[in-house]
Amino acid sequence: MTTERETAEDFIYATEEFRDSIATVTKEGKRIWIYPKKPSGRFFNYRKLVSYILIILLVGMPFIKVNGIPFMMFNVLERKFVLFSIVFHPQDFHLFLFTMLTLLVFIILFTVIYGRIFCGWICPQTIFMEMVYRRIEYFIEGDWNAQRKLNESPWDAGKMIKKAAKHFIFFGIAVLISNVFLSYIIGYDAVFKIASEPIAMHLGGFIALIVFSYLFYGVFAFMREQVCTTICPYGRLQGVMLDKNSVVISYDWKRGEPRGKIKKGLNTEGQQNSPILGDCVDCGLCIKVCPTGIDIRNGTQLECVNCTACIDACDEVMLKTHRPAGLIRYDSHNGIATGVRNIFTARTIAYSVVLVALVSINFVLLGNRAAVEAIILHTPGTLFQKSEDDIISNLYNYELVNKTGEIQHITLSTSHPQTTIELVGRQELIIPKDSTLSGSLFIRIPNSALKERKTELRILVKSNKEEEITETTFLGPFK
Ligand code: SF4
Ligand code: SF4
Repeated sequence: MTTERETAEDFIYATEEFRDSIATVTKEGKRIWIYPKKPSGRFFNYRKLVSYILIILLVGMPFIKVNGIPFMMFNVLERKFVLFSIVFHPQDFHLFLFTMLTLLVFIILFTVIYGRIFCGWICPQTIFMEMVYRRIEYFIEGDWNAQRKLNESPWDAGKMIKKAAKHFIFFGIAVLISNVFLSYIIGYDAVFKIASEPIAMHLGGFIALIVFSYLFYGVFAFMREQVCTTICPYGRLQGVMLDKNSVVISYDWKRGEPRGKIKKGLNTEGQQNSPILGDCVDCGLCIKVCPTGIDIRNGTQLECVNCTACIDACDEVMLKTHRPAGLIRYDSHNGIATGVRNIFTARTIAYSVVLVALVSINFVLLGNRAAVEAIILHTPGTLFQKSEDDIISNLYNYELVNKTGEIQHITLSTSHPQTTIELVGRQELIIPKDSTLSGSLFIRIPNSALKERKTELRILVKSNKEEEITETTFLGPFK
């Protein structure tokens, strides 16, 4: 049976024109600067706590090393990636790809079920914007109204001091973020050298630091929500990832509509029992606190970064007007429409199966990863040499990759019983931790022991604890 309140859904979604444009850009394409009201409340306090823990982790992670290996590093310049102190070399690209694929499916699955929760609680852009930069702005310039007035006022000494102080601090934090960001790419020791040694010694690194500092400053001081609404690919993909069962920040239109302001004398219970109006008192506070300038009562929109500010604002209004909290809350469209939450749909089950399969493959691949990877190939342009005592020699190039955090001592032997191996230019094979050793070697076999012109050779590469077999061919004279 359709009640009067259920028809509110039609009312809410009757006009979808707001989806044709974003709230921060005019029809002429000009930016609308958002002055969000200072948020406060239960969710804001939780988010503050989570944000500060994450900032500590984000800043501290580059300093964490396990067995001398960074915990996380994404050295695109040297094509070396470290995840949880597991080093991925170019030879491990398939492993890295699988790990990234797993992460991607996890993010998609998480988004399908829990919507854009990542944006509001975990994304560094939101955390630095809302919990660091915005709070400094509130501290220096005051709440939204004061900020607007300051921006519209003529330039006097007070305004100049406030603006200079704000931008000076903003840029200082951008420099710190830039240092942390570079630490994830080249390691904190390299960043420390750039910062402490003469500029001429690290000109490239110094320029990168300056460029990233200005970039972060630009993002947090000026671009702000535009990053989330127009640049971030994750934000743009929300439309295809969310469905009506995804838990997002939702306005309970069944409870709230038809909205209307409280009028004195209409109802002493604050309209709680009004047969005409819903619980939304149309105060507009949920719009005023929104850092992306949207009205969540219109339904889920791509601009919503799930910051929870509107939940806190509305809960406060509900409290003051003696209504139950949660008019805006975490819920799905179907959850509100039917009163039942259904998280496990065919789509989420399918994604979960793919995720479990990918995680299992990852574990198998990582578990079977060799400590040392060996590539031994014929030196290009060489065939064989024959000595006076009828010994045949083949020249090979080798590359040994130590993927562990300990020094590896390598010994080589082959499947042919009469083989001798001679290293060129070194006595033994010792690979420093997490490094590559390359060079040349001769393999020698008496001509009489060769049955064919081409002999398949299996080379046993013995490291500290493991053995690996690599295959090559040995060339001799026609038989
Ligand atoms: S804050 Fe709550 S009561 Fe006020 S307009 Fe928004 S939804 Fe309605
Ligand atoms: S609609 Fe609410 S949760 Fe979404 S961005 Fe605006 S204030 Fe944050």
